[in-house]
Amino acid sequence: RNVLHWFRSKDIRQEDNKGLHAASQKAREGGGSLISMYLFSPKDMEWHGTSPARSDYILESLRILKSQLEEKKNIPLAILTAEGRGNKAAKVMQFAKENDVSHIYANMEYEVDELRRDVDLAKKVQEEKDISFDVLHDQTVIVPGSLHTGAGGPHKVFTRYYNDWLGVTKKDPSLLDTCPLPEGNEKSAKQAHQKLFDTTIPELPESKQFGSDEERDRIRKLWPAGNKAGMQRHADFLKQKIADYATHRSEAARDPSSRLSPYFSSGIVSVREILRNTKKFNKDKNFDVGDVGVVSWVREIVFREFYRQVTVITPHTSMNLPQNLKFDFVQWEDDEEGWKQWCEGRTGVPFIDAGMRQLNAEAYMHNRLRMNTASYLRANLLLDYRLGERYFAEHLIDWDLSNNTQGWEPSYTVFNPVTQAEKHDKNGDFIRKWVPELAGVEGKAVFMPSERLGKEEFERLGYPYPHVDFKESTQRAKARYKRDLADA
Ligand code: FAD
Repeated sequence: RNVLHWFRSKDIRQEDNKGLHAASQKAREGGGSLISMYLFSPKDMEWHGTSPARSDYILESLRILKSQLEEKKNIPLAILTAEGRGNKAAKVMQFAKENDVSHIYANMEYEVDELRRDVDLAKKVQEEKDISFDVLHDQTVIVPGSLHTGAGGPHKVFTRYYNDWLGVTKKDPSLLDTCPLPEGNEKSAKQAHQKLFDTTIPELPESKQFGSDEERDRIRKLWPAGNKAGMQRHADFLKQKIADYATHRSEAARDPSSRLSPYFSSGIVSVREILRNTKKFNKDKNFDVGDVGVVSWVREIVFREFYRQVTVITPHTSMNLPQNLKFDFVQWEDDEEGWKQWCEGRTGVPFIDAGMRQLNAEAYMHNRLRMNTASYLRANLLLDYRLGERYFAEHLIDWDLSNNTQGWEPSYTVFNPVTQAEKHDKNGDFIRKWVPELAGVEGKAVFMPSERLGKEEFERLGYPYPHVDFKESTQRAKARYKRDLADA
């Protein structure tokens, strides 16, 4: 009988893929064929607000994966389409039965809806008795939820989690071991099955189409799909950028960061493989010593692992609720004009507008700008942070539920976008690049032209006055949080 690997939107690669590896071994043991499958769900894309950039990037990466699997490995990639959000397990089960599948493998997704879907399938499998379903942990080096404090509960504080993570990976380097597909072709399932299922990569749903072909081509050039492009990006990062990472990471214009986030969030690269290569670059030293760039960069990778642990231990964070539930009681403002200006990058605050315009143009935003634009929306505009969280999902190519919800988690911290810009965009180059109205503004006036230029000179720029006063709006937010959290 045959074995099925079910690819999800978080493991779109054949390289170093735990679920695929296990499925391949099982097929070889039993003498059956290995089939792979992706369940395309336009309704999920609507539900999550997946951006056109991300939708297209996933489909393009699937196209590359499909040709690798079919041509080089003899493994067909079947494409199923889910009509609704709720009938997925039944769909997969039906496919398994039609194709004489005895074992189904997949890699774990940690969000509540996805876990429910898998529990659904596990129940159906139990009823059938002659079919099994195995889910493996592949997204992280350390299984989310498994690093504990001395007292026994899972770590909730990053620095403790990080120190533990360093200790565990040092003690057991095999955590980074690879899980490749074995050499040689799989037993051919292609000829036997090609008539039974559709292997056509779907077109982008209408609502996910780009505004123009030029926009699509520009985004595809910025973010080339597929594992090979991701691994090349990592190799270039080690060669050209990591040396600057520790000291200049937050400098928006220089930006020595890897831009690997879309590759991580769709599992187009394996975090184990990336860390193995990074370790080799670090002369096989552990991740807390050696090259300072490596130490600093791997710490961010551990943030990614930690945020998956947070998703597992506080499942309500994947159900549109803040980790600190008290923030659900905040009475947010209803300010349509402020919202529109934030989305378009026309708030009148240059650093915020530069970040939003980068997002709208590149389907990506520098981390420092994400922190600032999020703070500005939830504090200074006092708009429900979930609006911004959703806007990010609708525009980012690297949308990742754990990272995005944790990035947007409300708090009392309010960033001052002028001092932040003066610190992290010292010469104003990032602002001038993304806000062309300010390209000719010299010196420090670029950080707050409405206050630092004369009235006439400012008004000639065609750039808006700030929608809110920073000081007043910060006080308003703090008072509102204090009032509403006290009542919660
Ligand atoms: P690098 O600096 O090169 O870091 C390498 C990798 O480490 C990243 O690709 C990412 O996987 C991980 N990483 C880096 N910084 C963080 C972080 N602060 N938290 C968790 N993981 C991190 N990241 C996403 O991948 N998807 C999102 O939807 C997302 N939304 C965010 C929203 C807000 C409000 C904030 C403040 C941060 C968000 N981040 C998100 C985290 C971070 O901004 C991006 O991961 C980073 O900017 C991606 O660029 P890079 O790949 O060049 O990162």
